[in-house]
Amino acid sequence: MRIFTAALATETNTFAPICIDRRAFEESLYAPPGQHPVTPTLCTAPITVGRKVCAQKGWTLIEGTAAWADPAGLINRRAFESLRDEILDQLREAMPVDAVVLGLHGAMVADGYLDPEGDLLARIRQMVGPDVLICAELDPHSHLTEKRCAAANFFVVFKEFPHTDFVERAEDLWRIAVDTLEGRVSPVMSVFDCRMIDVFPTSREPMRSFVDRLTEIEQSDVDVLSLSVIHGFMAGDVPEIGTKMIAVTNGKREKGEALAQKLGLELFSRRGTFMMPWIDEKEAVAKARASAVGPVVIADMWDNPGGGTAGDATVVLAELLSQGVTNVAVGMIWDPIAVQICMAAGEGAEIPLRFGAKSAPGTGNPIDGLVTVVKLQPNAEMRFGDSIAPFGDAAHIRLNGIDIILSSVRVQSYDPSLFTALGVDPLTKHILVIKSTNHFYAAFSKIASEILYCSAGTPYPNNPATNPYRRARRDIWPIMANPHSIEAA
Ligand SMILES: [Zn+2]
Repeated sequence: MRIFTAALATETNTFAPICIDRRAFEESLYAPPGQHPVTPTLCTAPITVGRKVCAQKGWTLIEGTAAWADPAGLINRRAFESLRDEILDQLREAMPVDAVVLGLHGAMVADGYLDPEGDLLARIRQMVGPDVLICAELDPHSHLTEKRCAAANFFVVFKEFPHTDFVERAEDLWRIAVDTLEGRVSPVMSVFDCRMIDVFPTSREPMRSFVDRLTEIEQSDVDVLSLSVIHGFMAGDVPEIGTKMIAVTNGKREKGEALAQKLGLELFSRRGTFMMPWIDEKEAVAKARASAVGPVVIADMWDNPGGGTAGDATVVLAELLSQGVTNVAVGMIWDPIAVQICMAAGEGAEIPLRFGAKSAPGTGNPIDGLVTVVKLQPNAEMRFGDSIAPFGDAAHIRLNGIDIILSSVRVQSYDPSLFTALGVDPLTKHILVIKSTNHFYAAFSKIASEILYCSAGTPYPNNPATNPYRRARRDIWPIMANPHSIEAA
């Protein structure tokens, strides 16, 4: 067997004022054929898992380019087209192939392309013909368009949010691909449109039990090869936005459709109950101060670079400063200009610095202060599960007893190692302020005495009922109360 693999992924917040060019991919992950590292990043596990599977089978794996950019706004047209064409050229050269196994994210929007993944998949289908297997792993925060479903045989989506299972799902993807190529199964994908926009953390109920049940059904029903939920991505203003339920069966289309509908309507019936409750910055800081033991983690949940925001909001920090709180570490605030200034000043220097809140409305005001440059770290990195997340040149500054980490590559706060990388011991701090909606949970819950979800400012379009959508469909909850003709169970 000859199998082609590649990855092209980012998540586009169409409301974010930060655009993505080719350099943004190169800063996060750009691996030409054969140069992908041993450890996968979020959307490239199909490549690393594929290496193992094909080595065991004695099959030929032809690696194309793998590119991932940290989420932001619109993708530059040439950047998308050049990466797409690079992968298509590699596939053309690799032909004939028996299968194409891709790592995608599924929420890209490029200048001139509302459905870049659909465009890529359709071009691949056109090139390889109707009989070659095409499958991909997707992030649940994506848009499942008809064009994609028409072009691919099946998708497997991360089940967990936080996405702790991207390697396991890549293993599912490959297992189904291998079983298909060896003639044991013929996957058929059924999709139910839940017609809703919501957020589904699996670290809490009711989504925890729902996902556990999907796994149980997969294990107990021989007809079911894979079940996935496309959560949808509310910051991506595209026509086919929304939650979708996917059932991949072994040739049982009717059964798959019934199952996808049943499970999808169950999600719809629980709309609005999935998200964790949140508080504002005043309450979060007061609560954290009142806590007897630390570290209390305040998640600045909507200024999450993982959702495409700048990650430079200062609303929570300003509240801490105004309340005179100390023994706090803030990780991180994106400000490459301030990092450059700190680098020029050098470790130990005391300098006047303006930092933060430079990129978007609703993020507070820049902070001005006499800061101490405590530590500088070129090419800083933190852990994220089995992988590594770089955050660029970074500076640890101290202002009024608050330790603040400034980064020059936008990335959400995945793991406490972001603090230790800059010489801050997170366990000694009473309060840790981080920027992440829920990915932080897996690692930070292990050290936190308490976790407070804080909605501070308006950095992100977090209310689908009122977000200023221009392209998103209107026949979807919460824009419409009940868009289903059938009653939810
Ligand atoms: Zn995601």
